[in-house]
Amino acid sequence: MVDKSRLAISKGQLGPVCDSCGTLMTFGESCTIDERYVCWDCYVKLTGADTSTDSDSNPGLRMS
Ligand SMILES: [Zn+2]
Repeated sequence: MVDKSRLAISKGQLGPVCDSCGTLMTFGESCTIDERYVCWDCYVKLTGADTSTDSDSNPGLRMS
């Protein structure tokens, strides 16, 4: 479930707040780790996801 206390208005729409750095995001920008929202940068740091390039990666298919 989404904890509404973690949500904020970002770019004119309701979106999550990064649990790690506090960045406001849209849902489209956010990643989730154990039901927490994090930004992509923090997601990479926390999960060790590939950081080489994002030109051919698809975050949606990673870390299933
Ligand atoms: Zn973050």
